[in-house]
Amino acid sequence: MKIFCIGRNYANHAKEMNASLPEKPLFFMKPDTALLGKKADFYYPDFTKDIHYECELVIRIRKVGKNISEKFAHEYYDQVGIGIDFTARDLQSECKENGHPWEIAKAFDNSAPLGTHFISLENKDVQNINFHLKKNGEIVQKGNSQDMIFSVSKIIAYLSQFCTLKTGDLIFTGTPEGVGSIAIGDRLEAFIEEEKLLDLKIK
Ligand code: MN
Repeated sequence: MKIFCIGRNYANHAKEMNASLPEKPLFFMKPDTALLGKKADFYYPDFTKDIHYECELVIRIRKVGKNISEKFAHEYYDQVGIGIDFTARDLQSECKENGHPWEIAKAFDNSAPLGTHFISLENKDVQNINFHLKKNGEIVQKGNSQDMIFSVSKIIAYLSQFCTLKTGDLIFTGTPEGVGSIAIGDRLEAFIEEEKLLDLKIK
């Protein structure tokens, strides 16, 4: 399976990063070894001094597709979940300065913790989902999918031009503003609406 991640998909996050707004979806990928199993802890790696959390809604692809049109994109998913796109911000800054790819900052082991389960989108509008992240009990990120620059359908249409989507592939759909650093001892809890789906300790 593949993990796609969309960068700068919320205007206020692009602004806090001093980054320009993308004219088309900006995507990168993480390997399956980036997934962090349910109820596992995250161990802070040695190669970075500045890991940031980025809380994101995650779409799971339910059937294979290529060159999917925006109009039919909704047929390719029926559930939404939540995850964290951990980013070694210090390494990413170096990559950006040098025009290098982002993998060392984004694709490392356990850099994609995922909530315990996905929620059915039946009777729900994927473009009106509230989600938030708490760090040590305080809300640090709050988003609604209506603020995405590129909708889930647009993302699926765009990605599937380049890569065949397969059952089980995940799409991290971008983070709202409020990203920040984690430290050993922190606890992160992520919610869709008021339901807690992820509870992670940093060790
Ligand atoms: Mn992200």
